[in-house]
Amino acid sequence: MSKNPKKLFLLSGPLPELNAYSPNVYPLQALLEQYGYLTESCCPGRYDEPTRDALNKFQECCSSGDDISYEETIKRLCRARCGVSDNSAMTASTLPVVHSSPPITVGSIWLQDRLYFQIEKPTADFALDGQRDIFEKAFSKWGEITGLEFKQTNGENKPDITLAFHKGEHDDGFPFDEAGTPNGNMAAHAFPPPPIGGRFAGSIHFDDAELWKKDESTAEGVSLFAIAFHEIGHALGMGHSQDPHSVMYPFYNENLKDFTEKDKEMIKSLYGLRKQARLVAQPEDSQTITLNLGIEIA
Ligand SMILES: [Zn+2]
Ligand SMILES: [Zn+2]
Repeated sequence: MSKNPKKLFLLSGPLPELNAYSPNVYPLQALLEQYGYLTESCCPGRYDEPTRDALNKFQECCSSGDDISYEETIKRLCRARCGVSDNSAMTASTLPVVHSSPPITVGSIWLQDRLYFQIEKPTADFALDGQRDIFEKAFSKWGEITGLEFKQTNGENKPDITLAFHKGEHDDGFPFDEAGTPNGNMAAHAFPPPPIGGRFAGSIHFDDAELWKKDESTAEGVSLFAIAFHEIGHALGMGHSQDPHSVMYPFYNENLKDFTEKDKEMIKSLYGLRKQARLVAQPEDSQTITLNLGIEIA
């Protein structure tokens, strides 16, 4: 999948004994921390209690209640996926909005009806026109459900949502790494609307170490549509879902084409709440609102 397949990252070996040191534990801890499961301090390289508890938490989340082996858990942990944490204060993905059904898993949403998006830095993997078409298609799907109008701009209008392909460190504190490192399974990440997304609010970044493809005519490569469709959800304020069929499931699903009924219900109630939501932080430009999730925003 990567342009650099020679450095395929693998976590291997049996489950370590509790409190044993093993070289396998370093990448395990890095991944668990990266995706929001290991939040307590742990001893690097040692399979200590915080590491074990974090692994158990991940196992619970990724197995939908089924009993899965350690080997299978590690396999799932290493799968290609979105870089946004499954338990991020940034997306407040585990905090339900009070009085909504189903619970909404966001921190902030856009208030205006029209949003501009711009491709700031395309990939060289295929023609720019093809990339434009894919983003248009992905945004229009979100538009149908949210009632938002998405318009592509080339600089005529200030973009609300920007799309860029980067490699490695790219100055937002969330570096991409090529396959071969603990973060090698990360294909993209995105920042929620302001104020929670801060100065990167609405930015969507794709790992340009991946080989991107425009359609299913080639087996090799990562589907840009599948990843963009998911990441736009984050740029609109959605967090991750544990439902493997959901657009907001964190793991790569090449066949992702559409929303589930539950996704639609959730998105509609989220963007339907814009008018009546209680404001906890009134931004100066009034372009976004923050739903009251009972969290403190620094
Ligand atoms: Zn994601
Ligand atoms: Zn980034």
